Amino acid sequence: MTVTKRSISILGSTGSIGTNTLDVLTHLDDHDAFEVVALTGAGNIELLAEQAKTHRAKLAVTADESQYVALRDLLSGTGIEVAAGQTGLLEAASADAGMVMAAIVGTAGLAPTLAAARRGADIALANKECLVSAGDLFVSAVKAGGGRLLPVDSEHNAIFQVLEEHQRHAIERVILTASGGPFRTFTKAQMADVTVETARAHPNWSMGLKISIDSASMFNKALEMIEAKHLFGLTPEQVEVIVHPQSIIHSMVGYADGSVLAQLGCPDMRHAIGYALHYPRRGKLPVERLDFAKLSRLDFEAPDEDRFPAMRLARLAMTRGGVQGAVLNGAKEVALDAFIAGDLGFLAMAEITEAVMEELAHLPPATSMDDVFAADLEARHAAGRRLG
Ligand code: NAD
Ligand code: MG
Repeated sequence: MTVTKRSISILGSTGSIGTNTLDVLTHLDDHDAFEVVALTGAGNIELLAEQAKTHRAKLAVTADESQYVALRDLLSGTGIEVAAGQTGLLEAASADAGMVMAAIVGTAGLAPTLAAARRGADIALANKECLVSAGDLFVSAVKAGGGRLLPVDSEHNAIFQVLEEHQRHAIERVILTASGGPFRTFTKAQMADVTVETARAHPNWSMGLKISIDSASMFNKALEMIEAKHLFGLTPEQVEVIVHPQSIIHSMVGYADGSVLAQLGCPDMRHAIGYALHYPRRGKLPVERLDFAKLSRLDFEAPDEDRFPAMRLARLAMTRGGVQGAVLNGAKEVALDAFIAGDLGFLAMAEITEAVMEELAHLPPATSMDDVFAADLEARHAAGRRLG
């Protein structure tokens, strides 16, 4: 494939970040336009086929092999190539696009994103699990490939915007903001028997199911703490969290002179996505503007690690280092699936994750991605055993 103008592939185009990315692409000025190379999804092949046709993609991939024939039928006569399964995802990541939006949810996103990074694509990174599980190995892979790493997670995108590289010596801390989720004011007893439906109802952000529930348990913030450590080369002590229910300040950087720089905006992922797509310039985005007169107040609260132990587990993973991020995430994904299936209580997600982290505290640091995948798998098995 020859690339004539800026080009992009979207891994996970049918999800919340994926559809928002296509929306931003639709609204770009002509001179900022991208050619869409590959799009990938999992179950929702009707939407995937529709997206591929609308955006004239060259390749459409479903992660679900059993959907290959159905997807091929939906796209027959269009000239759009079709592939499926893990090989298909790697094909999509390896296709010749200058930028790859990594928006697959969970550890499933790691291998394809890594393939894109290794071949030198600019990585717009929504999939935080790449950094949580593979940490410095992932950052090194991007560096070795020669592409840019552009954070799309709103907090990290905010930090990226206000972190002055030439003042790196003077960075004291980063402060991740957290909305506190739907259970911010709940007692532990109230959280014990919440349902998936109440847990998925995020007060400010509209997101995929798993990240919405992770926001309710604050596992999302836990993952983001580890993500920030690797992304910005910080010590665990430099990563702070503050609960800010309005989600207007998307995160902050504190400097040695006491100054704190913040990035603000309405809670809309198209900010962060659009910033990454335009980088290093800023471009016009079709997002709501802040009206400070209407805002009237911004609130802040200290995070409560007793009610939300996920953040304590993130500190433990950061302090221990090695593969503990992969262990935390692997165990959490199994527990989260069990909660979604109705087989596990809300608070038990953190209990199981902590127990697995203790069980696997002895694992040696990873020297290769294979070690990371092995630790992830071991954590999944250990969590599965505890589910019984
Ligand atoms: P989502 O569930 O809405 O979409 C996930 C995408 O991945 C879909 O295209 C789905 O088909 C695909 N997918 C699911 N399972 C897969 C598998 N096993 N193999 C391959 N593809 C698979 O999720 P989302 O909310 O868009 O989040 C995507 C990623 O971005 C997550 O890592 C999330 O933590 C991160 N993120 C999301 C938001 C947000 O606002 N939604 C914000 C920050 C970070
Ligand atoms: Mg976030």
